[in-house]
Amino acid sequence: MQAPLTVRLGVLGWPVAHSRSPAMHNAALAHLGLHEWRYQRLPVPPELFAETVSALSQAGFRGANVTIPHKRAALELAGEASPAARAIGAANTLSFTPKGAIIAENTDAPGLLAALGRSPRGMSALVLGAGGSARAAVWALREAGASEVLVWNRTPARAQAIAHELGVRHVLAPCPAELLVNCTSVGLQGPAEAPAVIPSASADGALNQLALTFDQVGEYPNVVDLVYSSAPTALLAAAKAHGARTVDGLEVLVKQGAISLELWTGRAAPEDVMRRAARDA
Ligand code: NAP
Repeated sequence: MQAPLTVRLGVLGWPVAHSRSPAMHNAALAHLGLHEWRYQRLPVPPELFAETVSALSQAGFRGANVTIPHKRAALELAGEASPAARAIGAANTLSFTPKGAIIAENTDAPGLLAALGRSPRGMSALVLGAGGSARAAVWALREAGASEVLVWNRTPARAQAIAHELGVRHVLAPCPAELLVNCTSVGLQGPAEAPAVIPSASADGALNQLALTFDQVGEYPNVVDLVYSSAPTALLAAAKAHGARTVDGLEVLVKQGAISLELWTGRAAPEDVMRRAARDA
């Protein structure tokens, strides 16, 4: 059989229309001169995930990113997985070998550490959330030597479960720490909900959902928000107003995407190109 002309990559999610990964990766592929490569959205509902993924290799796919709600299913489906993906219990990157094997990796964890821009070794950290990205963040910070990793979640039982599984502590209310990482989807509403002036009613609303007040945000000198939108989220706006060092979700997206791209292509990822494309998308 003749090899397909196009080498395909994509992002599997449900929904996935909001994803900036296609713009980011296609810009990188063009910059690298990989003109026969294409990266596309793959909207797939949970009930079709397994059969779709099993068919991707035959359809010319070299790899795929995986987002909500498939990260756990992706790990379960893969014949091989990195120790990190197994320990985290979720995969955001799949690679397909010519023989049809599926290999799972988690680049959310190293992507977060790379986006931080400094080692969290010795720092205390509070992770908000207990979903797939919180699992990756907790594991990454613990492995990177944070002095303590605490987890808070709206549904406490879920925070308790991941804290127990990953060997950290859960808290019933956010408490001060040197690093705050928001891994909830609070703030996803986008610019319409983002505050023009801090503090504001809409900012307070978003912060309340994280069980924080504007003043309490000032207790975190380093703040990362995994949520990305074109305007700063209420959390990042409040953190900036307090003079904190902030990292937004687009930077985390770029860093995790760069690691995925390197896995698939074997080439160094052009991060500046990816960052520009992700911010312009
Ligand atoms: P997930 O598995 O669906 O988890 C969602 C989390 O958000 C849960 O802990 C949930 O709490 C919490 N949550 C949802 N609505 C809430 C509300 N109104 N108030 C308080 N907590 C609420 O999602 P995920 O995969 O971890 O992703 C979380 C966010 O990170 C998403 O916005 C995603 O787009 C973003 N993300 C960004 C990157 C990046 O590269 N920048 C990478 C991964 C994820 P309950 O348990 O109480 O429901």
